[in-house]
Amino acid sequence: MATAEANNVTQSESRPFEADVAKLLHLMVHSVYSDKSVFLRELIANAADACERLRYEAIAAPALLGDDSKPRIAVALDATARQLTVEDNGIGMDREELIDALGTIARSGTKAFLDRIEAGPDGQAGQGGEGAEGQALIGRFGVGFYSAFMVAERVEVISQRAGSDAAWLWSSDGKGDFSIAPAAGAVAPRRGTRVVLHLLEEAKDYTDRATVEQLIRAQSGHVPVPIAIIEKPGAAPIEITDGAALWAKPKSEITPADYTDFYRSVAVAFDEPALTIHFRAEGRQDYTALLFIPSSRPFDLFDPDRAGRTKLYVKRVFITDDAEILPRYLRFVRGVVDSADLTLNVSREKIQESPLLAAIKKGVTSRIFVELERLADKEPQTYAKIWDVFGAVLKEGIYEDFERREALLKLARFKSTASDDWRSLKDYIAALRPNQTAIYYIAGDDLARLKSSPHLEGFQARGIEVLLLADPVDTFWVVPSAGFDGKPFKSVTQGAADLALIARLDATQAAAPDIAEPVKDFLAFVKATLGDAVAEVRASERLTDSAVCLVAPEQGPDRALERLLAGAGRLTSASKPVLEVNPQHELITALASLGEADRSFKEDAAHVLYEEARLMDGDRPADARAFSDRLGRVLKRGLR
Ligand code: ADP
Ligand code: MG
Repeated sequence: MATAEANNVTQSESRPFEADVAKLLHLMVHSVYSDKSVFLRELIANAADACERLRYEAIAAPALLGDDSKPRIAVALDATARQLTVEDNGIGMDREELIDALGTIARSGTKAFLDRIEAGPDGQAGQGGEGAEGQALIGRFGVGFYSAFMVAERVEVISQRAGSDAAWLWSSDGKGDFSIAPAAGAVAPRRGTRVVLHLLEEAKDYTDRATVEQLIRAQSGHVPVPIAIIEKPGAAPIEITDGAALWAKPKSEITPADYTDFYRSVAVAFDEPALTIHFRAEGRQDYTALLFIPSSRPFDLFDPDRAGRTKLYVKRVFITDDAEILPRYLRFVRGVVDSADLTLNVSREKIQESPLLAAIKKGVTSRIFVELERLADKEPQTYAKIWDVFGAVLKEGIYEDFERREALLKLARFKSTASDDWRSLKDYIAALRPNQTAIYYIAGDDLARLKSSPHLEGFQARGIEVLLLADPVDTFWVVPSAGFDGKPFKSVTQGAADLALIARLDATQAAAPDIAEPVKDFLAFVKATLGDAVAEVRASERLTDSAVCLVAPEQGPDRALERLLAGAGRLTSASKPVLEVNPQHELITALASLGEADRSFKEDAAHVLYEEARLMDGDRPADARAFSDRLGRVLKRGLR
């Protein structure tokens, strides 16, 4: 561990901030964000974290607590000096920790925040920082320690690491560098951290007791460490929150507002929870869980490094927030699980191997499923909102969690050609057409394009519902999922449509007539013209209005998955698509009737039809130059 002795540094030293910190600070210093009071919530959250980390380290090394074993946070005000101080008796920081923690950005949430700011509102670089959106985002992210610079012209952090006898002073005006020096013993806390804010003139209200007290109650009322306020220098500390664990209280004593406050402090969130799950499991395992599903999407939801943020406590002692209590696809769930059975002296690494924890994980996950199913049943509107926000993540579970695949498919909701509302697979099965044996879907990345895809025509003519899968994850789960209720999933962009057995809605339209000989010849001509670009050219059952479309062969990935694999460089040999042609289409019958004299025109037309089908799939022409020449010739002939 780095200590003063080890480093042998006694002089004050000045250091520049890491580039990202400088950017963030610039934003904070120039912030016009109206609710600057979030800084207090952030500093108190850090103080509470520090107390909980000490409590945890003291399990193995009780001496760290000394004669000061009760965790506490004090907020001290000094109107005359225009200062606000947040002090804790937690773990503290040594010199290296101060430099690392307060000179760099380690948090992925803060990084995501910066990326958002940099991207600007419409993805234009550098537009968001000073703009309204950048400002609004400050409130929605937990931007941490640096938010102090929204209200302070200078911040000093005096800290003494538990178990060390040296204290350090970190100081900065937030304008590019900070200094670090040994702190004189007289001003340093005996253990822990004191953060002193030299407030800006316009922030002097933060030395007013009533204002600050009200803020602490509102923002930090459920922090699990008691918070006291010291009205002015020399005044006695007065406890304003008791640090009792909300989850341990009986449900009857907890109001919805209590839950919301707790959710906001545990999740560093600003919305209302969409679903609150609070229960105590007794019997073989004894634990309490208080979990929330947020109502808005966190910015780093799809960050691959993002782990679940469910906190694990043992008998009210915080152990870790990376015990991976919940499966990855439930990583948006926030809250705490407090076990009465796990032993306190189990190490963070060992805890993963504990069979007790495995049982807790299973129990908690099952309960979340039960609650989601209940909500989907009783309050479909509320459930639909959760699905809107987190459905794309839940669907990852369909291929990650074999055991719960069936349950997840039941919970899944879909956009479809049948309705603008969310549809469940149960709804889909109930609306099957006679002789329909598959659940049809079309996958891609753009809902609007999917809806207008020519592949849907034959299905719509028969009243067959098609699921519109527009999330990137869709192509991954739909293939391995073995279907639902005995019906396989089938892509409408793959294989033969096999629709002949299903009657068309339009009864006046008799079954498809046999294909005329000239059309058959024309199809062979198109295949000969396009050569290896397509595997096959065949008459289509799925087209009614459009002339052509491309489909994937029966075996292998469908068109959407193939594009995805190709984009990721994971496709070793691309399969050739099949060009399907609508044999009843006016354009096709007219082309088929042309003779040998129009051979070169027919060749151009064959290529143009093929490129048109690619365009409809969202692809580009295979050879843009040749396409443009051919289109020109075809148009010119039309002008004759
Ligand atoms: P976060 O709390 O999410 O990690 P912050 O910007 O709030 O991000 O704080 C950065 C880091 O500074 C913390 O992770 C912690 O290591 C350290 N830190 C901040 N305040 C304290 C404190 N009061 N006691 C000990 N460490 C602290
Ligand atoms: Mg923090």
